[in-house]
Amino acid sequence: MRRRTVFKLLAGFRKFREKYFLTEGSIYNNPLTPGQSPKTLVIACSDSRVDPALMASASPGELFVVRNVANLVPPYETSIKGLHGVSAAIEFAVVNLKVENIVILGHRQCGGIQALIQGVENKHSFIGPWVKIAEKARQKVVNENPAADLDSLCRLCEKEAIVVSLENLRTFPFVQSAIMDRGLQLIGIYFDIEKGHLFEYEEINSSYRLLTEDGH
Ligand SMILES: [Zn+2]
Repeated sequence: MRRRTVFKLLAGFRKFREKYFLTEGSIYNNPLTPGQSPKTLVIACSDSRVDPALMASASPGELFVVRNVANLVPPYETSIKGLHGVSAAIEFAVVNLKVENIVILGHRQCGGIQALIQGVENKHSFIGPWVKIAEKARQKVVNENPAADLDSLCRLCEKEAIVVSLENLRTFPFVQSAIMDRGLQLIGIYFDIEKGHLFEYEEINSSYRLLTEDGH
């Protein structure tokens, strides 16, 4: 079974190599533009159905991507003792690559958000404390919707957690200066996996706007 998986990946890589590596002007072998200069950092969930590059039909070099459980951004911490993988990636994207946009890409049917709503019983789980980053979102939707069922709470919390991550992004000093000095944009997007639609968070009225027209 394992070998079959490797063969499938290899067959896929051959197609990728033909399309992106062997083509003229490819980012991989263009001596005029060595390295990468993506314009957008995407923070997405590790969910196998939510691949930002696939969803955007993006080419190699276009998106700088961080993926984690529930597409969360932790708040800025002054202690550098922890292992801040997400914060390190944000720093590299903003300070070194100077991306122009940061997109938080949330989605429907998020297992991480469901774990946050239901709680994680195993005290040794890494998932429990990680998803607690969005505890504020959980409290808000539970308080505002006391009669809602689990599925509705998850849907609401998936959207609210994006807002928390956008807020947390603003706590990083280098994100604040990039917003002030060069107009770095922070964008919240929600992917409705069930209907195939994208929504953008609008801060001005604290709601989500449909980006994809019906059937498109
Ligand atoms: Zn998810």
